[in-house]
Amino acid sequence: MGFLDGLKKFGLGALDLEEEELFEEPKKKVEPKKQEPPKPVSTIDESTLVYDRKYTCPICEAPFVAKTLKSGKVRMSRQDVDLRPVYKEIDPIKYDIVSCPECGYSVLAKHFGNLTKFQTDAVRGKISENYKRKEYKDPIYSYEEARIRYELAIATAMVKKSKFSEKAYLCLKMAWLIRGETEHLDPESPEYEEKKKSNQEEEKEFLKKALDGFELARMKEAQIEGMDEATLDYLMAALGLEIGNYDLSVKLLGNIIGSRTANSRIKDKARDLKDVVLQKAKEEKEKS
Ligand SMILES: [Zn+2]
Repeated sequence: MGFLDGLKKFGLGALDLEEEELFEEPKKKVEPKKQEPPKPVSTIDESTLVYDRKYTCPICEAPFVAKTLKSGKVRMSRQDVDLRPVYKEIDPIKYDIVSCPECGYSVLAKHFGNLTKFQTDAVRGKISENYKRKEYKDPIYSYEEARIRYELAIATAMVKKSKFSEKAYLCLKMAWLIRGETEHLDPESPEYEEKKKSNQEEEKEFLKKALDGFELARMKEAQIEGMDEATLDYLMAALGLEIGNYDLSVKLLGNIIGSRTANSRIKDKARDLKDVVLQKAKEEKEKS
C-alpha cells in the first residue's frame, strides 16, 4: 500500500511505519531514500486567508513559521457526516499541521510542544537524523505539501508514542485532507478518474485507521481530543457508516439515543443517522 509513501521524500521511507504498527511502537532502523519534491499548485486569494505564525522547535530549537488560518475570515459552508468542516474559500485542514522545516518534527498545532525527554530523544533519533531539510516557499500549502506534513505528523506521533486518540485524530484529518483534494481535482484532467479512485481508496484506509484508533482510545483513554462521549460515539458511528461497519454504527447510535447525559440535539442527529445507516445496510444486503 502507499501508506506514508510521501515520507520517502524526506528520507524517512524506510522507517518502520507499517500499517499494522500504527498503534504500536516502531522498532527498526531507518535508511534515507530520494525522490522529487512535490509540485506546488496555486489557488485564488487563499494566501490572504493565512499568515505566518512563529514557532520555536522543541526538538532542534530552530525558529520557523507555519502558515496558519486567520480567524474570523471564513465561514463554514457545510459539514460532512463525519463532522468534517467544509469551507468555500479555503480548505483549513491543509493548515492544521505545524512542521519544523529543519528537523521534521510535525504535530497538530494544538499538540505542539509539551514533550517528555523520551519523546524528544525518540523524535531526534528516529525522525530528525534521517530528515532532509525542506523549504516551504509558496504563499499557500498545496494538497501535496499538506499530505507530506500529515505524513510527517503521523510518523512523529508514532515515534513519540502519542495517545491512541491523537493518532486516530491525525488519521481522520488525513482522510479529510484526501477528500478535500479529491473535491478539488480537475475533472477535465486525463488522470482525473484514476486519481479520484486511488484517493477514495486511500481515504477509506485512513478512515478505517481512525476508527480503529478511536475504538482503542474509547476503551483506554479518558480525554479524547476534547470530545464528549456522545460526540465521539456519533463520529465513530459516522466512520462506521463510511467504511461499511453498520453493526458498530447502529450500536453506537443506540448508546446516544438511550443516553441519560446526551442532549436532545445530538439524540436527534443520532436518530437521523441511524435511519441512514439502516437504509444503507438494507440496500447492501439486497445487492449481495
Ligand atoms: Zn526542529
